[in-house]
Amino acid sequence: MKPNDPTIRWIEDPPMGLSGRMYLPLFVQGLTTTVKHLFSRKVTLQFPDERPKIGNPIIYRGVHRLNKDSQGRVKCVACFLCATACPAHCIDIVGAESPWPDREKYCESFTIDELRCIYCGMCEEACPVDAIELTSFLDLTGRSREEMIFDKEKLLSVYDKTKDREPSQSVRLGVPVL
Ligand code: SF4
Ligand code: SF4
Repeated sequence: MKPNDPTIRWIEDPPMGLSGRMYLPLFVQGLTTTVKHLFSRKVTLQFPDERPKIGNPIIYRGVHRLNKDSQGRVKCVACFLCATACPAHCIDIVGAESPWPDREKYCESFTIDELRCIYCGMCEEACPVDAIELTSFLDLTGRSREEMIFDKEKLLSVYDKTKDREPSQSVRLGVPVL
């Protein structure tokens, strides 16, 4: 459509009065909004001095952990289901023959790129042995990209830090831990 098309109906801006030219209504409007926010309830927190209240830490999707079994061994059996389900392709597993007689394989290496992760929880859903879970741990900081790739040891240490306040699903459901 061209600008001179006869079907176009052009509407002129109404002429601006004196107060409009002085931006007075907009100034008052802006000031009213500012004053209103000064006295309204604050929704921001002074993190990390103030911590957010997490409704239910069990269903919060924060930093991952690799769960341990009753003997303190990593529960992962290197089935690769979590890596297959992961839409962000941020899980990397190297499986190996298990040194223990009660399972065929275990993860020799297990890394998650926490910067690529979208915290969807699909890995947790996919795991058949309750070995990977997301926690309410949200202090996710690092000085380099490499530091944000969590390896097996780091993921197991998150389990140690969170297991008391957030028992794993099998413990909560009373499923015997292998
Ligand atoms: S939470 Fe989602 S994106 Fe992150 S590792 Fe698990 S499956 Fe992948
Ligand atoms: S964490 Fe679970 S789903 Fe992922 S490889 Fe290990 S056992 Fe399989």
